[in-house]
Amino acid sequence: MKVVEIFDSIDGEGIRAGAGATFIRLAGCNLRCTYCDTAYALFGEDEPCVYEEMTVDEIVKKVNPRYKRVTLTGGEPLVHKDCRALTERLIENGCEVNVETNGAADITDIPRGGGLFFTIDYKLPSSGMTDKMIWNNFKNLTPRDVVKFVVGSDEDMEQTVEIVKKLKAIYDVMPHIFIGTVYGMYDAKKAVSTILTEDALADARFQLQMHKIIWDPNERGV
Ligand code: SF4
Repeated sequence: MKVVEIFDSIDGEGIRAGAGATFIRLAGCNLRCTYCDTAYALFGEDEPCVYEEMTVDEIVKKVNPRYKRVTLTGGEPLVHKDCRALTERLIENGCEVNVETNGAADITDIPRGGGLFFTIDYKLPSSGMTDKMIWNNFKNLTPRDVVKFVVGSDEDMEQTVEIVKKLKAIYDVMPHIFIGTVYGMYDAKKAVSTILTEDALADARFQLQMHKIIWDPNERGV
């Protein structure tokens, strides 16, 4: 598998925010979001990507046994054909695995159960990728999974409300809903105000990307 980096840090967002985890960042992505902050993990003419070829075994050995929490990220981890084998091995080893995925890669091939959950990003209009969302992914979640919205404009905020309404019509017990803002692009106060006033968002949680506050926003491996 093409691995950009493996490092230990705290999860910067989502249901494990603040908890130590081993991050496995795989190379390549099937999207090109306008605000991508991990261009170094993408392939393209102007996007040199430095990676190391590693086997599933080699990757699994790098997981810190102290906390056995793994965040599998990218790029888009699910574009790798060995992602299924990797998640299976991590689960067998007793890890809790957070698969961060972009909503445009089929999640149904990854076996559920054990400690695996998805944090799935619903790409809103300001990403330029909203038409790539696979709705089937969002219809097959469990209460353990997370749907994340990263808001960069008023239009994004309006669409977030509409999508959460659609999800509420599907689920008796909803996946977790997290709402954040594109760093430096949308007023966090405005997003919070919408969460506090829109009925559909009554159970949504606002989040800031903690790692961008603790460290330099462009720092890698943190
Ligand atoms: S899905 Fe993530 S990694 Fe891929 S282009 Fe968008 S922001 Fe970047």
